[in-house]
Amino acid sequence: MDVSSKVKLLIDEISKLPGIGPKTAERISLYLISMDEQAIDEFINIVRDAKESIHLCPVCFNITEETVCNICSNANRDHSIICVVEEVGDLFAIEKGGEYSGVYHVLHGRIDPLNHISPEDIKIRELVKRVSEGGIKEVIIATNPNFNGDLTATYLKKVLTPYDIKVTRIATGLPKGVEIDFVDSVTLSLAIKERKEA
Ligand SMILES: [Zn+2]
Repeated sequence: MDVSSKVKLLIDEISKLPGIGPKTAERISLYLISMDEQAIDEFINIVRDAKESIHLCPVCFNITEETVCNICSNANRDHSIICVVEEVGDLFAIEKGGEYSGVYHVLHGRIDPLNHISPEDIKIRELVKRVSEGGIKEVIIATNPNFNGDLTATYLKKVLTPYDIKVTRIATGLPKGVEIDFVDSVTLSLAIKERKEA
């Protein structure tokens, strides 16, 4: 196909977004090009504004516009239970279920030896520090049910063992290899409810 190089560049950039295949990238690109000037400016401003005003919560590493995220600052949540997830999208997926009332810790990745991602590269040190400061009764590990997620869970269990807390992992009822943010919220709520000692 003989596409203009600027359109091709746009398609290439959009296909880098998670979950966007080449065909969808092409459709989104053509749609963006068809938008009028004002609409495209608004769209760009919304993206830029979101990027500029959002940072990571210093407690749990969720994204937030506030100093501390609205989950960490919510007095009605159980701050003695921490659910550990790989990415912010996993936290969103669990929140959609509306059943979990503890707080979170977002690792921003998983241990992945093949891609040279070691425990120091994700927010594990910060989790251990949180637990060591006391007031935590349970850590629920909700890493993905795949090789790297299992590896991360095993490592977390090891580093949390010295502390007097319960360490659990969400139920294995989750389909193996399916990423948590693709699991429906009912299944996810059930997986948390039926968590087992890790
Ligand atoms: Zn937070």
